[in-house]
Formats: sequence, structure tokens, C-alpha cells
Amino acid sequence: MNLSAMTCAVIIMVWSLETDMKCRKIYQTMNLQPPRKTALYCRLGDVQEAAQLLDNNEVRVNCLDEYGMTPLMHAAYKGKADMCRLLLQHGADVNCNQHEYGYTALMFAGLSGKTDITSMMLDAGAETDLVNSVGRTAAQMAAFVGQHDCVTVINNFFSRARLEYYTRPQGLEREPKLPPRLAGPLHKIIMTTNLNPVKIVMLVKENPVLVDAAALEKCYQVMDLLCEQCVKQQDMNEVLAMKMHYISCVLQKCLAFLQKRDDKLDALVKSLLKGRDSDGFPQYQEKFIRDCIRKFPYCEATLLQQLVRSIAPVEIGNDPTAFSVLAQALTGQMAFVDADYCATCGDKGADKRCSLCKAVTYCSLTCQKLHWFTHKRMCRSLQEQDADLEKDTPRLKELKDDESDLVMETANFLQELCLRAEEKVAAAGGCPAELLACPSTSAEGPSCNQDGGRNNRGVLNDADDDDDVERHG
Ligand SMILES: [Zn+2]
Ligand SMILES: [Zn+2]
Repeated sequence: MNLSAMTCAVIIMVWSLETDMKCRKIYQTMNLQPPRKTALYCRLGDVQEAAQLLDNNEVRVNCLDEYGMTPLMHAAYKGKADMCRLLLQHGADVNCNQHEYGYTALMFAGLSGKTDITSMMLDAGAETDLVNSVGRTAAQMAAFVGQHDCVTVINNFFSRARLEYYTRPQGLEREPKLPPRLAGPLHKIIMTTNLNPVKIVMLVKENPVLVDAAALEKCYQVMDLLCEQCVKQQDMNEVLAMKMHYISCVLQKCLAFLQKRDDKLDALVKSLLKGRDSDGFPQYQEKFIRDCIRKFPYCEATLLQQLVRSIAPVEIGNDPTAFSVLAQALTGQMAFVDADYCATCGDKGADKRCSLCKAVTYCSLTCQKLHWFTHKRMCRSLQEQDADLEKDTPRLKELKDDESDLVMETANFLQELCLRAEEKVAAAGGCPAELLACPSTSAEGPSCNQDGGRNNRGVLNDADDDDDVERHG
């Protein structure tokens, strides 16, 4: 028997027996030092080998090590997606809670920082509200170690089964509210953690079954029902309700463009991206998002009131944008953090830069092309700004004593603004949504020129490419 066959045999025996004592005996009879079982599980990095072992009926997929960890917990913690998938296929219990400190596989996935594994655990039915021995949920554990992407995935989880309920006729219905073929693409949109409206329109565009008036109508109606369900369920989930409502609004806008405009969804993308002449600020997008929030049908929701209070006093074009406030409320993520966001679709980790101004980043050439029709008007002034900055680098002024009055004054002013917003709420009959009314929001958005981004100026550079040679003519 060669060594690897022997190791294999040991693993099978350890997996099939659960007491330490028995394992030790096996090691002794084989003249091996008993390693910690943890180490054995980790050896199972080889998915093929593990698959063979799992096909052996004597191997228990939910066996525990001396810390109460299952192989699934180990694989999740180590970030081994293939191994997790294999173990789940073999019936691993995703909610096993025998760990000495009450950790679950979902907690380990969150700690690993792997969003794909976190999603996999959720898809397999992981409970999000189980707590460990110090009373923390998986989302809180992930937040504690700074794995914010995993927190977002957990907080935005919506089970496919809950959506599929609508793919079956209920009660006296002759046909389901949602044709089954739409469930997959719609679920993908619901699960997106990038709520940029351009991104959502792109998700619609990439699925031919969704680019259809009847399909979009069914989808947004189901989203409205889900929104209602989130509000009316026992533990009201305002965050999820707002997300469902917001997606419904974007889908309705897609439908409107599909029906009325010749260039359909491309025209919607352009409207959402088009910057105003003065500073390139995408005001149609801002007004659209404010409008979505305003239309949230449950006036009494605390979340709605918070959103309105943060957005109403802000002049269009200033920070924070309605999108950043909404995204933070819905995904729990601050919009700045360490990542570069694509100027077109809002995807995180965009690593391409406009080679002319070097001021905007994109995730792909497609996104850069989509943005060029409006960016080209701002690109030159951004280049000039960049040159000015180099001449006269602004420094942060230190706060002197006599300036602290100014700080207090500003704080008072902001407080007053909030109070005024509340008064207006009361005057508007208690519905804060009235404050967000944007009388100038045109239903179809500004007209777009048909430049199509064909101009090949402003080609992409890698953002981390220090090479300053311009790549264009
Ligand atoms: Zn992009
Ligand atoms: Zn540029």
C-alpha cells in the first residue's frame, strides 16, 4: 500500500467514525501520528479525491471535528467553492450549528470574504438570523472583519423559491402571474447588489426574454406584489420592500421606452447617462431616482422618511446624490470606500480609465463607449482641471479657533434644514414623499444625440498603467 492510498484510507475511516478515540486507535494500528482531523479535512483540497470518498456510503458528509466543524464549514472558511458545491450536492447540512462557538457555514463563508460561496450557502437554504455564542449573525460577523461585499450579499438575499411561488397558478388563477421562463432572469436582477439604474437596464437588455412588453409588465407587477408582501409580512422588511419597488420602477421605465422609442432600451441608457451642459451631472438619472423614491406606496415607512430627509434638501447636482443615499440604505454599503466604480454601470472595481482626462473609470470598453457621447463634452475641461491641480495642489486647511464658529453655524443650518423638511412633511399631510416632487422630470428623458460613442478618442487605459503615452490619434 503506497502512502497516498494509505492516507486515503485513513481519511475514509476518520470520516466514517465520529469519536476521537476510535480515530486514534486507527492511527495507532497504522503506525501514524494522529494528526488533527481539521488537517485531514483540509487535505481534501482535491475535489476529485473528495468526490470518490463521498461516493463511499460509509462516509458521513456532516461528520464533526473536535471543534464541531463540518467539512462544509472548513471548505467555506478556506474559500473553496468547488468543494462547497460538492459537499452540498452530497447533502451537507448548511445550517449545522454544532460548532463550539455556534458558528455556521454561512458565518465562515462571510468571514472568508468570498461572495460566491456566501451566495451558495444562501441558495442552499442557510438561515441568515442564526447567531453564534456571542449573539452575532453571519452578516454582523462579516461586517466585523470588514468583508462588506459579503454583508451586502447576505442582506440582499432573496430566495428563488419565494419568487417561484408566482410561477404557479394560485387559487382560481388560470395562469401564473409570472411565466416560469422569466423567473431566472428576474431573480438575477433582484439579487444584484449594484443598483445603478444603467446596470439594471443592462441586465434587462442581456436577456432577450425580458426585452418584451408583455414580459416586463408581468415582471414589474410581480415586483409590486413582492414589495407589498415585504411591507405586510410579520417582520416588515422596509429595505427589501424599497428595493422591490425601485426595481419595479426601472422595469416600468424600460417598458415605457420599449413601447414609445425607436431605439428602445439604448435610448433609456443614454437618457440615464446624459450629463447636463454646465457640469456633466446626469440630472435625468437623479430626477428618475428621486421620482422612484417619491412613488414608494407606503408613506408611513421609516426608511422612506429617512431617504427623503437626506435627499430633499440637496440641490440637484450636489452631493449626496439620490443614488448614493438609496444604495447605502439598500445595500448597507457606503458609496466611496476603496473601490473605483464604473462611470457607466456602477460596477465596483473598475480598472480602466479614460486616457485623455484620466478622471473617470470604467469596467469595460463597452461601458466607456456608452458613456463617450456625454463624457466627451466634459473630458476637455477635466483635463484642464487636472493640469491646474498639478500647478497648485490644494491643501486641507487646519481648523483655527476662530473658524470653529463657522462649523457650529453650518451644523445649526443643517439642523434647521431637517426641521424645515419635517414641517413640510406635516404640511403635506404626513407623506414625506411630496418633498421629492420634481416637476421638471420629463417622462421620457432628455433627447439624446445619436453620436453612439463611435468616436475613438478617449480610448481606455488600464488605471494602474503609469505609462502616460496617449493611445489615440
Ligand atoms: Zn461598467
Ligand atoms: Zn475623459
